[in-house]
Amino acid sequence: MLWIILVFIAVSLIWISIRSMARKREEKRLLTEFASRVRSRPEVIDTGEVTKSEDNGWILNPKSTFPITVYGVDEDVAKRIKEMLDRGLSDDIYRVAENISSLVARYKIRCKEVDEYIKTFKPIYLRKIEEQIKEYPNWEELSDEERKELISKFRSNAILSLEVRPYCDIEVLFGGDALASPIYDALIEKYGYDAIKYYLRRKNRGDIVSNENEFSSFIEEIKDLDLFYEEMSLYWQYIEEVSFLIAHTYMMSAYATRDYRDFKKFRRSELTEKWKLINANDENVCPYCRSLKDKNFSFEDYPKVPLHIGCRCVVTSVIREKQ
Ligand SMILES: [Zn+2]
Repeated sequence: MLWIILVFIAVSLIWISIRSMARKREEKRLLTEFASRVRSRPEVIDTGEVTKSEDNGWILNPKSTFPITVYGVDEDVAKRIKEMLDRGLSDDIYRVAENISSLVARYKIRCKEVDEYIKTFKPIYLRKIEEQIKEYPNWEELSDEERKELISKFRSNAILSLEVRPYCDIEVLFGGDALASPIYDALIEKYGYDAIKYYLRRKNRGDIVSNENEFSSFIEEIKDLDLFYEEMSLYWQYIEEVSFLIAHTYMMSAYATRDYRDFKKFRRSELTEKWKLINANDENVCPYCRSLKDKNFSFEDYPKVPLHIGCRCVVTSVIREKQ
């Protein structure tokens, strides 16, 4: 009888050790697989090669959830911009935007999706400002100073009334667009991006004028320096906003494209049932995006973000409730 018990114990011990070895092996395998997946996750997400659009622009990311089209450059520059944006996927977005802004300024780059936004929403914005002026009692009798102050308030109200609002300084976007005049482009061409940026960032313009360089002598010739300074700064900010929107939308859509591909690859998990949009966590979310918040999308209907240029929404899965 005793040997039967001993054999049973021996067999059980062997079985347990084999099981635990197998489990350890499996754990190790999973860990290695996970680590390699993390390591092999590419820094650059494949958003497609730069492709010519029908109207002679360049689509920077044809395979992404939100294609961005630029005009005004040749294929090489378009590819350079894409490279900068791709590198930016693991970098700080503001740095990426600043890097591409020198190209945007130098080549007078236009972005189709930004222009379309301006074309659709700027008239609504201007109308809203006009309405407020008309409704204001005694507008005609106000001083210039008072009007200026009110206009700035009206502009903010007009922006808040827009259904779709990209994450940027919309006032600059709408104001600088009108300033995209040949004189500023010529200045950038003549004096270079850096000289003008340096000039615009200086608090004391006297410093510049006293400096011995070509740009200073140009500044000395300008009659209304204040107006020039104001307009040039606005135009400059406009270039920076456009660059930011290109970078922001490119990056958001690259991440969304990666998530969408992962979702297709790993298919429906037992826990995932639906998709949900998450808004950015602040008061700048636009009414359009807010209206889709908490809406459930069926499993087959994966919502493609960004929803508009400069949109900050992301998609998350809704975990199935316990039955
Ligand atoms: Zn939005």
